[in-house]
Amino acid sequence: MGTGTSQGVPVIGCNCPVCRSADVRDKRLRASALLETEGKVLLVDAGPDFRQQLLRERVRQLDGILLTHEHKDHIAGLDDVRAFNHITGKPVDVYAEQRVLKALKREFRYVFSKTKYPGAPEMTLHVIGENRFRAADVPVTPIRLWHHRLPVLGFRIDNLAYITDVNKVEHEEFAKLKHLEALVVGTVRRGKHVSHFSLEEALAFIAKVNPRTAYLTHLSHQFETHAELQASLPAGVQVAYDGLEIKL
Ligand SMILES: [Zn+2]
Ligand SMILES: [Zn+2]
Ligand SMILES: [Zn+2]
Repeated sequence: MGTGTSQGVPVIGCNCPVCRSADVRDKRLRASALLETEGKVLLVDAGPDFRQQLLRERVRQLDGILLTHEHKDHIAGLDDVRAFNHITGKPVDVYAEQRVLKALKREFRYVFSKTKYPGAPEMTLHVIGENRFRAADVPVTPIRLWHHRLPVLGFRIDNLAYITDVNKVEHEEFAKLKHLEALVVGTVRRGKHVSHFSLEEALAFIAKVNPRTAYLTHLSHQFETHAELQASLPAGVQVAYDGLEIKL
């Protein structure tokens, strides 16, 4: 749905070659992924571009939203779940860790207040942890990740894992990442970053996990253009782009 870092690409006011690129693959909305499995539709993260992304993909069914963490580029679009409240007449199920749900109650206070403003979004919050859980009946394995000092989650569903906003993965989590067809992993640029994998770190992580194909996401304009970056990567590593569909 989106493959850009927190500011998106292009960045407002930036004149760099990536932000000026005419290639549609260099237009990156904030990071998010839509998963369709067993007739269910799940969204991972709902950043500020949520509305635009769901309109673009003509999404009419949403059975749950999984949140990796509470940073604004991953939750800011949640007000627009109202559209699905209207379609189904029901609250939207949101799955996240306790700390993230607490942040939602703070950031979207009007949604959870006792006296509700008419027309406010409706969400049912589900606490998840490090144990396997079901989201709309779909089995999900959470992966514990470190985003600087913030513990965040990635998710494995069947043979796909979605891991964004990370710069460290504990050794024991690799057991959950065996035999993947697709690994989606976040990286913001070449060279060290305080809270995200550099490209070098992401490639080392991919080599260790050894999926059939890896897809890079959460990219910033500090990378070269999509085409240039793709040409520099080893076989089996793809640069993701907005609208990319992976069939497994
Ligand atoms: Zn992010
Ligand atoms: Zn730029
Ligand atoms: Zn983040």
